[in-house]
Amino acid sequence: MKLKGPSYGHLSPNAKCSRCRGKAVITLPSHHANFCVDCFLEFFRKAVKRAMKKFPIKPHTPIMVAVSGGKDSLALWDVLTELGYVTKGIHIDLGIPGFSEASREASEQFAKSRGLGLSVYELKDLLGFSLPEVRKLKSSKICSVCGTLKRQFLNRLALQEGFSVIATGHNLDDEASRLLGNILRHKEAYLAKTYPFLPAGGGLVARMKPLFRLESAEIRIYCKVRDIAYFGDKCPFAQGATSHIFFEALEFIESKMPGTKRDFLFGYLDGKKPPQPEETPTGRCSICGAISYQDICSICRIKEELAEKGNSQ
Ligand code: AMP
Ligand code: ZN
Repeated sequence: MKLKGPSYGHLSPNAKCSRCRGKAVITLPSHHANFCVDCFLEFFRKAVKRAMKKFPIKPHTPIMVAVSGGKDSLALWDVLTELGYVTKGIHIDLGIPGFSEASREASEQFAKSRGLGLSVYELKDLLGFSLPEVRKLKSSKICSVCGTLKRQFLNRLALQEGFSVIATGHNLDDEASRLLGNILRHKEAYLAKTYPFLPAGGGLVARMKPLFRLESAEIRIYCKVRDIAYFGDKCPFAQGATSHIFFEALEFIESKMPGTKRDFLFGYLDGKKPPQPEETPTGRCSICGAISYQDICSICRIKEELAEKGNSQ
């Protein structure tokens, strides 16, 4: 099956830029538009500005950018910097052989090339276990455990470093495929949180997804145009994740009816406001002292479970 999509360079030599009427080199079928490089950059920045406008944060609020070393988070960091936001990157090295070294390297190289500040932490230091060790000891789905660990540690580290908001590189495809999965499985609680900005609350700092209006392929083109050397491999632990199935289903529909993916996500978000902040728990974890709804926080529970399993092996 051949899927048609946004591309850089696959255009007829006479194609004109939809904005300036100059020579077009980029085609975006879902926008029914062709662009020259400058107008594409303008389009991309505008999409991020439009997203940021929707988020209730003050213009000079420092932003902690969660950087994985992949295309999305590096493009995000680049564009926020270009738009004048004060940012710092944060990267968690998960310790996955062959994958984490390259992810970390891409993050560090990018920070260095742009003269940006980056904090790097290792999961092994934060938790006492690397992700391969977690996978060996914990039987439940590794992607969801990894998601919880990243979310919780990114939050704690952001608080520790004095930030009130974290930006992640989730894009239109991530959000649309997650929405499709949650609708198909009637996950009402998750649907209530389907919004690109989640306010601070429940012990968490605010989280935002400034790339939610941009497709993966558009971000890939942005990286090419902006000379961003990202690490493109998929996580070796994520093979068979159900999210890929929803992603592929949407890609198929999109190839037949360009623009459907955007209409699906934006139609759903239309008129919605950010969810209400969750109540901040009054209790603290009896082990580590972090703000927690339960007597033991999610990280300490995972730690305890891993320690128990480790001892019994
Ligand atoms: P993923 O869940 O891997 O698709 O990642 C979604 C977003 O989470 C990325 O765009 C990053 O903003 C952030 N992220 C993922 N992995 C890391 C990591 N190891 N360190 C810091 N941020 C990360
Ligand atoms: Zn704890």
